[in-house]
Amino acid sequence: MKVLVVGKGGREHALCWRLSQSPSARELYCTSGNPGIDRLVRPLAIEVRDIAGLADFAAANQVDLTVVGPEEPLSAGIADEFDKRGLRIFGPSRAAAQLEASKTFAKNVMRRAGVPTAEFESFTDTAAARRYAESRHGSMVVKADGLALGKGVTVCHDRATALAAIGEAMEADRFGAAGRRVVIEEFLAGEEVSFFALCDGERAQPLGLVQDHKTIFDEDRGPNTGGMGAYSPLPHYDAAFESCVMREVVEPALAAMRAMDIPYRGVLYAGLMVSGDRINVLEFNVRFGDPECQALMMRYSGDLAEALLAAAEGRIGDAAVVLAAKSAVAVVLASGGYPGDYRKGLPIAGLERIEGQEPSALKVQWALKRIRVKVFHAGTALRNGSIVTDGGRVLTVTAMADDLATAVTSAYQAADLIAFEGKQMRRDIARRGLAAAGAKPPLRGGD
Ligand code: AMP
Repeated sequence: MKVLVVGKGGREHALCWRLSQSPSARELYCTSGNPGIDRLVRPLAIEVRDIAGLADFAAANQVDLTVVGPEEPLSAGIADEFDKRGLRIFGPSRAAAQLEASKTFAKNVMRRAGVPTAEFESFTDTAAARRYAESRHGSMVVKADGLALGKGVTVCHDRATALAAIGEAMEADRFGAAGRRVVIEEFLAGEEVSFFALCDGERAQPLGLVQDHKTIFDEDRGPNTGGMGAYSPLPHYDAAFESCVMREVVEPALAAMRAMDIPYRGVLYAGLMVSGDRINVLEFNVRFGDPECQALMMRYSGDLAEALLAAAEGRIGDAAVVLAAKSAVAVVLASGGYPGDYRKGLPIAGLERIEGQEPSALKVQWALKRIRVKVFHAGTALRNGSIVTDGGRVLTVTAMADDLATAVTSAYQAADLIAFEGKQMRRDIARRGLAAAGAKPPLRGGD
């Protein structure tokens, strides 16, 4: 089949890479510009947000399946447009994408479905929001209802912070229209994990658990980023936990959406807070996470194009959704200054030491131990034949091995071979999983 991928970051590079190995995907197109992706696909000069242009292309070229990476085109109705034209697409409709685009919508679906989540109220009236915050005891969380580039959530350990967050969102318009409605919810303590499932409107198949690392610095310090690393599976969670999430979260949410006549089709990403045997849903996202997708795609071992087509056609039950029983770790290399201002156009050295043909002791060691290492491009560009930095998150170095400790060591061995001015990376990706598995985190470079 012919497959079109919409998006141009590390997540989409991982999707394109895995799709390029799908026996059923004969031709692959992507709206790219990223040199990692462009090596694998026929790049299109169509913008990700040009929905009509993408649908025209898919119709004119008999594309059999379109796979949408980012959230924005979904909320803008790309799936509705493709459906209208009889084109197959993997991704939810605009109405279903409200699961991510509106926290109030998502919380109401959870309430209706009986999905466990923090107690909450939603407000468009500032005075009512303030009264509610004043009536609460203990910590609470104030959330802009709409999409706010990951900045719309304020965890408040006292009332004054909550009142200030309400004012910022609803009066000072810090998040624009996205913050004119807020959700105020109970603070939950615990460990955050992410669960992914492929959904076809009625049924779902699990892809499993991933843990991400949001802050820029080790030990969860510093400002939040788009994500600095991820690993999957989580050695401290068993198969019974995954079945429980399918039963208590994914299946009831799908049933509630269907009952609302807004069937959910696409990947469902549930952000969970786990404490003891309590699971609560913090949020839903309507697409793969980045870099969670890189870790999952490393492990995915079935025919991905076939599975995504099955989901798009309402027959996910037919698909063989198979992930290797190995550990994958994704480490993001970011530009100096990110998530604040950063420079672009800096030369990147060392990629060929990982992906080139020349033999090296490290490559032999990886091959002997059946370790797979892959570098996914995010913010990179080609200038005069050389690869340079072109974004905040530049590359995701991903490794897969039989056990988590080996995967972590290999990912950092590879990450240390890549150099560009100002390079930042966290050194503690997967530390919770390693601690649970009884292993030590890898040593710092040069230690
Ligand atoms: P969200 O976009 O709703 O996932 O929120 C972003 C982040 O805020 C989450 O990843 C959590 O770290 C934190 N957070 C959100 N809701 C809560 C909550 N009810 N209790 C504690 N932390 C929360």
